[in-house]
Amino acid sequence: MIHDARRAATLAIGNELIEGRHVDTNSGEIAARLAELGIEVAETVVVGDERARVERLMRELCAEFPIVIATGGLGPTLDDLTREAAADAAGVPLELHGPSLDHLRTIWAQRERPMPATNERQAHFPVGAQIMANPVGTAPGFRVWVGGGVLAALPGPPREMRAMLEGELLPWIRATCGQGPAIAVRSLYLCGLPESQFAEDVGPWMARGENPRVDVTAHMGVLSVKVVARQTSRSAAEAAVEARALELAQRFAPFLYSREHPALERALFEALRARGWRMAFAESCTGGALAERITRVPGSSSVFLEGWVTYSNGAKIRRLGVPAALLEAHGAVSRETAAAMAEGARAESGADLAVSVTGIAGPDGGSLEKPVGLVCFGVATAQGTQTLERRYLRHGRDAVRAFAVHTGLELAWRAVAGPPAPPDSSARRELR
Ligand code: ATP
Ligand code: MG
Repeated sequence: MIHDARRAATLAIGNELIEGRHVDTNSGEIAARLAELGIEVAETVVVGDERARVERLMRELCAEFPIVIATGGLGPTLDDLTREAAADAAGVPLELHGPSLDHLRTIWAQRERPMPATNERQAHFPVGAQIMANPVGTAPGFRVWVGGGVLAALPGPPREMRAMLEGELLPWIRATCGQGPAIAVRSLYLCGLPESQFAEDVGPWMARGENPRVDVTAHMGVLSVKVVARQTSRSAAEAAVEARALELAQRFAPFLYSREHPALERALFEALRARGWRMAFAESCTGGALAERITRVPGSSSVFLEGWVTYSNGAKIRRLGVPAALLEAHGAVSRETAAAMAEGARAESGADLAVSVTGIAGPDGGSLEKPVGLVCFGVATAQGTQTLERRYLRHGRDAVRAFAVHTGLELAWRAVAGPPAPPDSSARRELR
């Protein structure tokens, strides 16, 4: 029995992680799952495929932490050294584990291939280790005592790591580590609000040491808010976190689009379905990315009718009926053209809502009056058409396009799920 195992460390093993060919995502995932059990990962180490170095780190981390979770290096090749390093660290030799060898042979038989001799390495484990099954891959994992701590070794591929963590390691930790303080977590996803404004409005709830504690990260117009509560029992932690999440949801209602999922297109999909609306997109600078995003959602065919990629002026005229004179007078990137695109898409498709986007993604094509990063949007419904102009300056082509996609989705979501349109909405006006 491990007593007071409230802290842990992770060890990500692999040259590819050091060299930047892959990013260590395993450690963060493990930390998030452990946090739900009230166990805090206090240190994450990344190390290359070097036996002596891995062994030393295993010993050092196990001397300080009751639980150390390593990932990677369980493959069949000679640079996969986790088994050897763990045996060295535990001060025991490796031995063949018969059932694991049978498991490997079965997998190779299913592949209808003879098993290369090198794969037998994957059935060797430090003497005294407990084997953890790999339901989705070849390499089994294991747990072994190294000094006063338990070293758990999981496979590197995230899918395999996850399966073994859920199926083998977490149940063991739950059963072995006793009950500590319980942690409960809630997420909220907001759009249309700057991070600094959120922080100001939330005030002391974000302070260090606050319980429940509120954390926020911003990415491409989305604020991901996390609420974490720490209490002596699970029910108390759940109650505390839910109360704070509810207060946040009320305070930030105009910006809150989901409490489950960060993908804005899912909130849009659900809002469309709830209202019984169908929609269309008319795109220029986003090149079809808005249509791509909404069609990611399973079942989107029930709410999404069609999309146009009208990149040239000719296409805007022919496909969406944008008047040539209007293009001539205002230019392709203008509120007027955006409005005409949205109205044309709505009329052509018969949709309840059409959203358009036209902008200058750069790096060329900007002018003093219409700089690179200027993007115009149109939102057409039965109530009329609204337009919005945004200037994503100094960001570069990829970011301008990504911001434009985000704003297009946000405008669509607001048009469907937002507060009822005011009476003067038939006028073309700035969206706030
Ligand atoms: P395999 O049997 O596939 O060789 P392994 O346990 O030996 O498995 P590695 O060889 O270390 O694992 O890694 C295999 C792949 O898993 C890597 O190329 C990488 O894509 C992914 N991977 C490894 N470690 C991590 C990590 N810490 N975070 C995310 N991905 C990882
Ligand atoms: Mg490998």
